[in-house]
Amino acid sequence: MNSNQKQSILLVDDDPINQDTIKVVLKNLDLNVIIAESTREVPGLVLIHDFALILFAVDPSNSQPFEAAIALDQNEKTWYVPVIFQARLEDIDELLLQGYAAGAVDFIEKPVREIAFFAKVKVFLELDTRLRQLAFATNQIQEQNLKLEDRAIRDSLTGLYNHNYLLEQLDREVSRARRYNAPLSVFLLDLDFFKDVNDTCGHPFGDFVIKEFVERVRVNLRKSDIFGRYGGEEFLIVLPNIDRDQANVVAEKIRKKIAATAFVNDRYSRYVTVSIGVYSGSGKKLTSSGSIVDYVDNALYQAKAEGRNRICHYKTQKSNLAGPDDHLHDVIGMSKQDRLNTTIEKARAMTLASFEAMVHSQTREYDILAERNTFFVKVLNLFAEKLNLPDQLIHSFRRAIKLHDLFRCYIKDSSLETEGALNEKQEKMLFDQPLMLRELTTMFDFFSSERVILYAHHEYYDGTGYPDGLKGNEIPMAARIFTLIDSFVAMVSPVSSKEGMSWEEAEDELQKYSGHQFDPFLVDMLIQAIKGTDFFSEEK
Ligand code: GH3
Ligand code: MG
Ligand code: MG
Repeated sequence: MNSNQKQSILLVDDDPINQDTIKVVLKNLDLNVIIAESTREVPGLVLIHDFALILFAVDPSNSQPFEAAIALDQNEKTWYVPVIFQARLEDIDELLLQGYAAGAVDFIEKPVREIAFFAKVKVFLELDTRLRQLAFATNQIQEQNLKLEDRAIRDSLTGLYNHNYLLEQLDREVSRARRYNAPLSVFLLDLDFFKDVNDTCGHPFGDFVIKEFVERVRVNLRKSDIFGRYGGEEFLIVLPNIDRDQANVVAEKIRKKIAATAFVNDRYSRYVTVSIGVYSGSGKKLTSSGSIVDYVDNALYQAKAEGRNRICHYKTQKSNLAGPDDHLHDVIGMSKQDRLNTTIEKARAMTLASFEAMVHSQTREYDILAERNTFFVKVLNLFAEKLNLPDQLIHSFRRAIKLHDLFRCYIKDSSLETEGALNEKQEKMLFDQPLMLRELTTMFDFFSSERVILYAHHEYYDGTGYPDGLKGNEIPMAARIFTLIDSFVAMVSPVSSKEGMSWEEAEDELQKYSGHQFDPFLVDMLIQAIKGTDFFSEEK
């Protein structure tokens, strides 16, 4: 009952004259007067009404009202309701002790003395009003306190636990896992290229992505997992009783759930990916919560460096750590030239990884090409073995195909999925590609070998290709090899609607263009390299 509902009093008496008198005396008060003929009705009535006062008529021959009053006094819902006994004047002395023992607050005469009774009832009603107001205020204060406590531990955008609370919980869970010799895993998640999401689609869309991200993650967690916003677009999850293998499964589910579907509101649609640093440990072997935070941070850094949209576990061997200093660790003790080569190698890998993650986050065609890339590398390995190519060149081919494919995705090359002859626009686009790829690789001078390959990969052996119409040996050997592998992969790998060719069909096609598009010597070598292997019987 709230503080301003109409008040009620209960009269327990079967005497109709007393009932009428009391109703008359109280008629000017804004009040429900409820009548019970017997004490047996009382327990039921107190469930329905919240009485401001209960009045029992008593006489020496009947002790039931005292028992009913004791029952009210012992009930936690009614103990505070004031109880008054009413008895004939000559009986009051005899009943007084029993009445007060039963919890009475007052005794009045029967029949009532009107003015005194009216005044008393008013006092009790006033008292009841005050009590209700107090209860209401106390309730509100408690609710407010709960809200304040909640606000102190939660982040306002997502409703998740905040940074400080997360660290407290991590500490608690580490102690618990040590005590019970249980496993524990911790994830640090960071949205990839989130600055670009804000820059391209605006901050409100960024906020929307963060909120939907939280929902997508949440469905993959258990009630016992502690999920919070570590800061900005970084999130921490503590997973009690989850070991390394299980952590991998959960993290992978989360990664896929984020990457699989675009984030769409009424204005924008955007694919977003997440990188996850993972630490798992168990029982006494668990490190301190402070170190765990450093470890997941290191693992996250590694996931970003390897190209984003991936999971990296913290590795205990120091040499596998990927902190900024570890690049220095790697190169200590090398010759100057080796140091330079290692640095260039890392710069190339990181540049490609960044380009790849950017393309992946923005286009869907990427998936088609990722599959084709796997084919390319398989054919390359077979062919390279046949031709005894040096490792450095093989690495260049791998980087070249990656740059080539990523670039086609990035410019949304519409010839990727079409069968048959290209239209004029597609042909023009294809014609421009070597030049554009040369420009792109010029930006990064450590891609000079790839530039040579990519610039000449549309040249034909018979001189009818482009951009320079080079012929035969004028075309760099690496470009001739690249063109051959690239074309062969295009023939045999299925691309969306189109089935890949069988080996016989592909061999015919290679022979058909041998000496025209392709170097005949290389065609022979490739056929030899593939023949007699299980390339076509393996699952592609
Ligand atoms: P990386 O893949 O290396 O993580 O790239 P990134 O762009 O995500 O990294 P960076 O740390 O440079 O940028 C994080 C961005 O996240 C910058 C900041 O504006 C944005 N961000 C952080 N908190 C919020 C937020 O509450 N709402 C929105 N809309 N953006 C946020
Ligand atoms: Mg980020
Ligand atoms: Mg960040």
